[in-house]
Amino acid sequence: MSRTRRLIDALARDGSLSGPEFAELIRARDEGDASHLFALASEARDRVFGKGIFIRGLLEFSNFCRNDCLYCGIRRSNRRADRYRLSKEEILGTCEAGHLLGFRTFVLQSGEDPFYGPELIADIVAELKLSFPDTAVTLSLGEHPPRSYALWRKAGADRYLLRHETRDPEHYASLHPRSMSIGTRVRCLETLKALGYQVGCGFMVGSPGQTPEHLAEDLLFIKGLRPHMVGIGPFIPHKDTPLASAPAGSVDDTLFLLGLLRLMDPRLLIPATTALGTLDPAGREKGVLAGANVIMPILTPAGVRGKYLLYDNKICTGDSSSACRMCVERRMGTIGYGISAVRGDHPDLEGAGPSPPPPLAAPAPAAPPPAM
Ligand code: SAH
Repeated sequence: MSRTRRLIDALARDGSLSGPEFAELIRARDEGDASHLFALASEARDRVFGKGIFIRGLLEFSNFCRNDCLYCGIRRSNRRADRYRLSKEEILGTCEAGHLLGFRTFVLQSGEDPFYGPELIADIVAELKLSFPDTAVTLSLGEHPPRSYALWRKAGADRYLLRHETRDPEHYASLHPRSMSIGTRVRCLETLKALGYQVGCGFMVGSPGQTPEHLAEDLLFIKGLRPHMVGIGPFIPHKDTPLASAPAGSVDDTLFLLGLLRLMDPRLLIPATTALGTLDPAGREKGVLAGANVIMPILTPAGVRGKYLLYDNKICTGDSSSACRMCVERRMGTIGYGISAVRGDHPDLEGAGPSPPPPLAAPAPAAPPPAM
């Protein structure tokens, strides 16, 4: 048996490898190794989740951002981005339509837009939870002070997505403005976990300057953090950013990383992302066959969905929410999977009913909060 094949089998058995082993495997694997990995990963996922894929309705409610991440199309410095904000009423109305389409998780995502103060977000979350008691609310709003995270959790938010982007401090610095650091990002993730959120981290595959060693660091970081969800997708350049001429990440690398994540933790919630579907028309199906178990169809209203452009050529920008909902169901059907129209909590929380009540007080902040 080849060395790479042995490493994959060791990962399936032990749930981890050393950093150098991960890096070696990522660098040296061939197509046969990838097929072997995907078969083991699919088996592991099916054992925990069966043939059901969870869906999350993604509502991109504002593309204003005070941040300036070098890779992102809605960064503050991009004067050409056509900015929009949805009102509270528009957000609630969109979710109502989403609920009728069968969504039982709403993901509210935006740039870091100070227009929505902590109270307004809390208000929206509370009203969503009141209107749709059978539904989970996930927030994906970037970095905020611990007191805001605590307020939103108290209002009923169940989950929070904040990709760590890359665990390597220098690599992180090369992709972000000076005001940002991996230290702050990691503290945010730890705060979110301590508050009782189901937490998702993640990274882009093939971001400029990324090496297999960086990816190995990301995997070991995830092993240590033990998040409930991990979102990964290929980096795709956006024409109006400083990284416009950088090459896109590879679909094959992304799929391989998805498979590794599944073997590291068979119970993890792992989306097959829109970015994967953008680089390859069958990307999301391939993502599921490599080990993913979540799809996030877009719920953003037609009038603005073409404006939430983190990267070029994003798919689904001309489609309606119901078209996206049908489309993913059909796509999953072609590979022998179906849509699970339930909240889809992490298996550790299942049977526990809705998320456990949030702690009464926020834990002491581990560090000064990031500037608002
Ligand atoms: N502002 C929030 C949510 C929006 S960004 C936040 O920062 O968390 C959501 C994710 O999109 C980011 O975490 C990043 O990993 C991904 N993303 C941004 N620009 C991208 C690009 N050019 N290619 C691929 N993914 C990108």
